[in-house]
Amino acid sequence: MIIDIITIFPKMFSLVLNESIIKRAQEKGLVKINIHNLRDYSNDPHKKIDDASYGGGGMVFRVEPLFLCVEKILGYRLYPKEKKDDTKRIILFSPQGKLLTQKLIKKFLNYNRLILIAPRYEGVDERVRKYLAEEEISIGDYILSGGELPTMVFVDCLIRIIPGVVSNINSIKNESFEDNLLDFPSYTRPQDFRGLKVPSVLLSGNHKLIEAWRKKKALAITKKRRPDLLK
Ligand code: SAH
Repeated sequence: MIIDIITIFPKMFSLVLNESIIKRAQEKGLVKINIHNLRDYSNDPHKKIDDASYGGGGMVFRVEPLFLCVEKILGYRLYPKEKKDDTKRIILFSPQGKLLTQKLIKKFLNYNRLILIAPRYEGVDERVRKYLAEEEISIGDYILSGGELPTMVFVDCLIRIIPGVVSNINSIKNESFEDNLLDFPSYTRPQDFRGLKVPSVLLSGNHKLIEAWRKKKALAITKKRRPDLLK
């Protein structure tokens, strides 16, 4: 899978995308991440990519640099439509988007190429939303100062579920939100910390019992904290 990120702050991405699981996924050749600086696609002498919103308000990303950048990445013109390509998805991050969930992220495993747009200021010219973006995603009901963190959240969330990225498939299968349940409690050494003991069932070596206990605990915590998941 190829992931293209369009941003005015390329440096923000290098740390997060070049560590740990995401780094290894790239080294293994399972994913390729390209960072594009939107300013390189401005034909304004000052490389301006934003402008004042008509009717008053803040600044928004201009429509042209975004179209030019995405068209350069894809190698064909997008509007008026030149061709249809269902193997790629152009994604815009905004608080008005569809809420990102573990269920939603899985859908994106079906594409070969994802182009992610990380806006700033008040967002983008509406024509970007209507005629360029194919998906709009929000990472929660709160406002951040830019789309960089949402883009990184999306990339992290996606890459770890690409087959082959995490070697122990069970560590993904047993996580929160799988089967609409939150995760069960985990303990490690020591067995007794200042009198706080590890539940004896976990030390029993009886895998059937352990599994039943974990299921029970997962159900109990989901009922208590997120009953909406069980509906
Ligand atoms: N004026 C906008 C908020 C702009 S915040 C509004 O009221 O909806 C600046 C940018 O940060 C947004 O364009 C979006 O790309 C990003 N952003 C902020 N919060 C976000 C969220 N919860 N999910 C996804 N992107 C978000």
